Amino acid sequence: MSGERFDKVFADMMALMERHDSVLVTGHIDPDGDCIGSMFALALMLEDMGKKVMCYAPGEISELFLKLPGASMLAGREDASNFKHDLVIAVDSPNTARTEHFARPCENEDVINIDHHPTNEMYGCVNVVDGDAAATTVLVYRFFMAAAPARITSEIADCLYLGILMDTGGFRFQNVNSEALRISSELIDLGARGYDLAHEYIYMKKFSTLKLLGLVLNSLRLHLDGRAATMEITTEMLEKSGTTLKDSEGFVDYGAALDDVELVALFRENAPEEIRVSLRSKNHYDVSALAERFGGGGHVRAAGLTLETDMESARETIVKGFASILD
Ligand code: 5GP
Ligand code: MN
Repeated sequence: MSGERFDKVFADMMALMERHDSVLVTGHIDPDGDCIGSMFALALMLEDMGKKVMCYAPGEISELFLKLPGASMLAGREDASNFKHDLVIAVDSPNTARTEHFARPCENEDVINIDHHPTNEMYGCVNVVDGDAAATTVLVYRFFMAAAPARITSEIADCLYLGILMDTGGFRFQNVNSEALRISSELIDLGARGYDLAHEYIYMKKFSTLKLLGLVLNSLRLHLDGRAATMEITTEMLEKSGTTLKDSEGFVDYGAALDDVELVALFRENAPEEIRVSLRSKNHYDVSALAERFGGGGHVRAAGLTLETDMESARETIVKGFASILD
């Protein structure tokens, strides 16, 4: 998108934020660091502007995120449902279903949609969407720089840096580009704690999480002449290690560590007949298109979906899907 168009979008976004007094900032189910960082950065700014603000994302929230600045504005589901607001900001969410409809399309209410998923459905009254951005916090940073650069406190810098750090897997994934690195560098100058965040959110793991990782790596299987890998997390593994599903952030990437593996799937047992699938593609193939076949979505190299079936047939379905996209 051209700079000119973006400026107008940011001016519209700022105007909506200035016009309204109560704002619900929401994100996608089981929010990751990019989603949380985007929510908290915008919420901290709104609070500073004297607005009433509440943050809510459905699903499980890792306790690690509760230490971040902005976490005090995080609400439970009931409080968020009862919160009288005149503006919704949805972050990192390609459609309103991903927010469990805490954001609704523009026909129903004033909504700002800020996201980097190429499949975004443009449901906002203002849509800040760019599929080439490494993280949603990159777009939030662009907004700050266009509309209110002086409002980036060191707390906000931490939140924005965290989004880039986590969505790039610690600056390792294919979405790393010069903008992501330039902004990260500027955020460090603005007070982001680069080392502390990398340590706390990427490197450090609980004992129980490492035990779970051991069980998950044990489930690793190769398919299609070693070009695809699958792993699973069962309820039994969670019980045995004393963990919950939110402790498995980043596990899927281990499958891609194998040299010949191009496609990876991690299956997580949400309920007996409900399997959450995380898909990853290393270099060439589009897993977002595969996820969409089953009602999911995401990015070309990282996508997700849910299958209403058991673990074994979920594995079979996805391996067949992998076979159909490998050439
Ligand atoms: P993860 O495997 O880390 O849960 O998700 C990878 C990517 O796919 C993320 O960008 C996430 O937003 C997206 N994603 C995961 N599950 C779904 C889904 O069910 N629907 C859509 N539209 N996107 C998903
Ligand atoms: Mn993201």
